Amino acid sequence: MFKLNGKSVAPGIAQGEAYVFNPDNGIVQRKPIAEKNLDREVRQLHRAIEKTRRQLKKISGHLKEAMGSDSALIIGTQSQLLDEGILVKEVELQIRTNRINTEWAIREVEQKYTEIFSKIQDLTFRERVNDISDLLQRIVRNLTRNGAAPTPTLDNVILVARDIAPSEAAHIMSHGKLLGLVLSEGGETSHTVILARTQEIPAVMSVENAYEKIRTGDQLIVDGLNGEITVHPDNRTRQSYSVKREKYETHRERSRQVLKLPDQTLDGHDFHLSANIELPMEVDMLQPYGALGIGLFRTEFLLSDKRVVDSENEQYLIYKNIAQKIYPHSMILRTFDVGRDKHHETLGNLNEPNPALGTMAIRLFLREEALFKIQLKAAMRANESGNVRLLFPMVTEIEEIHTIRRLLDSCRSELAAEGIDTGKPIPIGIMLEIPGAVKLIPHLGDIVDFFSVGTNDLIQYLLAADRNNPSVSYLYNPFHPAVIRILMEIREEVARIGKEVNVCGEMAGQEFTALMLLGMGYTHLSMNPLSIVEIKRLFTHVHLNFIRRVVRHLPTFASRSDAEEYLIEKLLDRYPALFTQQALF
Ligand code: PEP
Ligand code: MG
Repeated sequence: MFKLNGKSVAPGIAQGEAYVFNPDNGIVQRKPIAEKNLDREVRQLHRAIEKTRRQLKKISGHLKEAMGSDSALIIGTQSQLLDEGILVKEVELQIRTNRINTEWAIREVEQKYTEIFSKIQDLTFRERVNDISDLLQRIVRNLTRNGAAPTPTLDNVILVARDIAPSEAAHIMSHGKLLGLVLSEGGETSHTVILARTQEIPAVMSVENAYEKIRTGDQLIVDGLNGEITVHPDNRTRQSYSVKREKYETHRERSRQVLKLPDQTLDGHDFHLSANIELPMEVDMLQPYGALGIGLFRTEFLLSDKRVVDSENEQYLIYKNIAQKIYPHSMILRTFDVGRDKHHETLGNLNEPNPALGTMAIRLFLREEALFKIQLKAAMRANESGNVRLLFPMVTEIEEIHTIRRLLDSCRSELAAEGIDTGKPIPIGIMLEIPGAVKLIPHLGDIVDFFSVGTNDLIQYLLAADRNNPSVSYLYNPFHPAVIRILMEIREEVARIGKEVNVCGEMAGQEFTALMLLGMGYTHLSMNPLSIVEIKRLFTHVHLNFIRRVVRHLPTFASRSDAEEYLIEKLLDRYPALFTQQALF
């Protein structure tokens, strides 16, 4: 018996037999191609591309059948990359200018993109390079006479791989039941991991040497709670994991019971927890996780698919589908937020000297008016049942909101001219994530319907500490007195003008900061869907009046650690049993 450690990315415990997945990434060699044979080489590339196109279509069809049309978008991204033809042209250019074999040309293009994407700070965007690699590798495999070895059908096994391409994962998960997933590499926000989560498959990634140390047929235990893999478990370990699994099942069951409770604190105050989503397919996770609607749909992921970006109809169908699935709850659709750490190949501001303070988000799309209007119109059309709201990121000044309002009016007239009635006006909100915008709240009573506090960026801009930079992460802290004070100010000012406010930054999904927000008067929180049950459990077991009294004291502290210690101590004193749940596992 031995153990391997990694990072848990999907909760749960799985026991079973390993299947080590080994896509045939053969060693590619550089071969010179004579001038007269270049056309033949390029024809061979195009044959492989056609084959790839057919395979993707088939996988997409299976995926749609097994998991619904939103999941098929994952493969849609790859088909789109093929249809756009940019990658293909680059490979062709490599073949012709360097007179090299297709495999090597593909390798060069893949390396180029890997390098470009590795410089991106935003993890979600950085990991989109997996889709490019996945596609290129599939083309390489299709170059050989027999094509790629078919992906095996796997049932009741724990899949072990170095990494697994989203299209392979999609194929496997839609053809059989995986018990668990172990990756020696992998990406936390990769499509493969997201698929595992939606399918409730316990998964651990970054397990060093898993791929080398585990053999097909080995008995494994995957602990997706602590990120531990046990290989050849002895009887005692098996038994202790059976107990742990039972405890986890009980916890899950208890969580389900929590979901049945009314959304009220012990002293009868209402709260409302909704979900942040990034991919349309995540909407299917919301009901089991207890989300009351979508508090933040980060639509920027759609920008990876050019066909969707340019098409009002494509976007309309995506937004309408989500809005219908969550009806009668609402969906807050945030317009594209790119630029700074959220890289996009053609949009955005990476060449500006200081991207974090440059042309990004709403600033960018007020210039890219045509693209922006496509998104606005699609959202307005999707509001058929009146449960869609529009949210604008990174607003700095009131002139931006005036411009947005004018654009919305012109979208409405253009749609009306096409005979499309957009019904009631769509409510509009702004993100409060630039400290300067907070000072505008008293002036916004007539032109903004609601507010959403983006604490991730608000902290970064208030404390001048990059949210993604580990060397200043000690400064990036939600208990800094300035953060506490600005959050209290927002709550008071918004109440004064009689509008709604929610919080959708990470603070909303973490136990102590979520309770702090509740005590400040934030009753609407939106978070990662996986956190909802836990936050609901906490909120239904505390007295709001007590939390309020504790939180009222926080602005008296000058130091973040004193404020944090005070809050935690008071909460643990009053509710000693409430925070011990995780220790069980
Ligand atoms: C935020 O800034 O808190 C937020 C929710 O937006 P994002 O994390 O997408 O920037
Ligand atoms: Mg933000």
